[in-house]
Amino acid sequence: MSDCLFCKIVAKEVPAEVVYETDRALAFRDINPQAPTHVLVIPKEHHADAAALARADQGLADAVLLAAHAVAEQEGVADGGYRVVLNTGPGAGQTVFHVHAHVLGGRPLTWPPG
Ligand code: AMP
Ligand code: ZN
Repeated sequence: MSDCLFCKIVAKEVPAEVVYETDRALAFRDINPQAPTHVLVIPKEHHADAAALARADQGLADAVLLAAHAVAEQEGVADGGYRVVLNTGPGAGQTVFHVHAHVLGGRPLTWPPG
């Protein structure tokens, strides 16, 4: 998708602080962090949202979730607890329509989220 911000990050046309990468997933720090650890994990392939990711090629959703947990371990928040959030649709606050898992940790996380 030529006009997609996160596709441009995958293509290195827009800079990002990449913290983890596999053949199918890319993880980079959120530009507006909401916690000491706030990393976005995306499939390199464009899919608009979590529903599209779920319907994608076999194993792509798994690859994103595995990368999210690897990021949590690398960031040192896996043992204490972290949150993986997939805002899906405008009503849930999704603003970038290239599916991304927020990995949040490093502070107490209240429930329910706002
Ligand atoms: P969402 O609201 O769930 O769609 O999340 C989009 C996230 O992307 C927000 O947390 C933004 O802060 C983040 N974001 C937007 N532009 C960039 C960028 N260029 N690099 C890193 N994160 C970004
Ligand atoms: Zn995209």
